[in-house]
Amino acid sequence: MADSFYDECDYLLKAVLIGDSGVGKSNLLSRFARDEFRLDSKPTIGVEFAYRNIKVGDKLIKAHIWDTAGQERFRAITSSYYRGALGALLVFDITRRASFDNLKKWLHELREFGNSDMVIVLVGNKSDLGYSREVGEEEGRIFAEKEGICFMETSALENLNVEEAFLQMITKIHEITSQKSL
Ligand code: GDP
Repeated sequence: MADSFYDECDYLLKAVLIGDSGVGKSNLLSRFARDEFRLDSKPTIGVEFAYRNIKVGDKLIKAHIWDTAGQERFRAITSSYYRGALGALLVFDITRRASFDNLKKWLHELREFGNSDMVIVLVGNKSDLGYSREVGEEEGRIFAEKEGICFMETSALENLNVEEAFLQMITKIHEITSQKSL
């Protein structure tokens, strides 16, 4: 049976997707939330949400994930998008160098508006398009190491590592939250 927003859970967490337009954010989210992929995705403008219940250890966590739904194109993301977010998937497209070069800008924004201990996972998406790769896997790893964040390459199209990227973020958030409540 599909999860209902009103199902019992131990706690709710908010996480955001961020990165340049066209890198695959909304398809990563629809894979994670509904196991769907859209070839001609044209999201409506305005924030989109999805949620999924995840069991981590003995806790049932409701992960509420926010997607920009195209607003980044107009630099229209406001601080309320980041408010209260405990985690972020910072996404670039391995076939588009510009989306990698813009990571610094997105990190700056995340750190300016987000929680200071926000868990950030860097995601190099479209790994199925290796033949037109413009950013090496090693480059992604080195960037993430320097910034002290996690890194993973994914393919929303082939459903590779998508679950893993979200789960890595959610598990880390859970670790931090549990330590705080000790
Ligand atoms: P967003 O603007 O960041 O939300 O990106 P979208 O999810 O709308 O995806 C932009 C385009 O990239 C769409 O045409 C998708 O079909 C395509 N796309 C997204 N993820 C992948 C992927 O993993 N592999 C490939 N080959 N295409 C993808």
